[in-house]
Amino acid sequence: MAQHIHCTVSNCHYYSSGNKCLASEIVVVSDEFGYRQPDTQDATQSANFPETPANSCMETCCKTFTHAGGDKTHVDGVTKSQANFGGSNRTR
Ligand code: SF4
Repeated sequence: MAQHIHCTVSNCHYYSSGNKCLASEIVVVSDEFGYRQPDTQDATQSANFPETPANSCMETCCKTFTHAGGDKTHVDGVTKSQANFGGSNRTR
């Protein structure tokens, strides 16, 4: 079953109306780990990441976030497509 990632971070390159994430893949990490990683380290390398436990949702972040219109949208191998949202037209 396809996963649908819902997100409200509207200034992200992968954000789409209806609060949809159109990234081919994302990685969620602890804030502390994400802060120390370069932009090139993202979902495409996540199998090699260590486990990064957190105490609450407030200590986690989407490492795949990158500013819409920024110059780092292609440094990590993640792609953006409507098809990435399960290929459906769901809005919720
Ligand atoms: S990459 Fe992360 S921050 Fe960006 S839209 Fe997807 S879930 Fe939200």
